[in-house]
Amino acid sequence: MGKGRAQFLFVGNHPCLDFVNTQMIVKGEPIDTLESFDDLVSWLIQANLMTTSHVNITRAGLSQKEATSLLEQAKNLRATMRDLAERIAARNPISDTSLQIINQFLSQRPCYPQLVRLKGRFEQRFHSVASPAQNILALIAESASNLLCQTDYTLIKKCGNPACILYYYDTTKNHTRNWCSMQLCGNRMKVAAHYWRNRSRRA
Ligand SMILES: [Zn+2]
Repeated sequence: MGKGRAQFLFVGNHPCLDFVNTQMIVKGEPIDTLESFDDLVSWLIQANLMTTSHVNITRAGLSQKEATSLLEQAKNLRATMRDLAERIAARNPISDTSLQIINQFLSQRPCYPQLVRLKGRFEQRFHSVASPAQNILALIAESASNLLCQTDYTLIKKCGNPACILYYYDTTKNHTRNWCSMQLCGNRMKVAAHYWRNRSRRA
């Protein structure tokens, strides 16, 4: 998917899972929707983790080599995040290595609080001294940190289709969501279940 054409899937209900879901299997073929640095920034904008003006600042100071390296690092981080999602969904413990990797990326974004004068009051805001490039990776790592600290693990699920590798945070009222999406897997699995039920009945 080239510049400006990237269409990403946002079925995860959480930016961390949506980032993991940039890798998928379609008709048995593994697909990586992050083919370029431009795809990565498109994803960050579509996920509401960055604004267009942020992205322009980030792009401006980057050489092609740095952009390629950033994409590479983001993909390594994604592999750690996929491992996290897999383990949580399977009710397995999180490895210390994963925590170390995420902490490493988080540490690349040193922030300090600053007082801002507003109408009749003051507010404390965090100011980052990291480079825009470091900010990108830290933002993605932060989504993993939020997943670990702020969600109910029992609602982090893998799609019920064994051939699908997508994850989601089940926010349905009765927590009965079974599929990444009805169009992608739900209908297909229902048709398959119907076929097997009828087949065994005939047998
Ligand atoms: Zn699925």
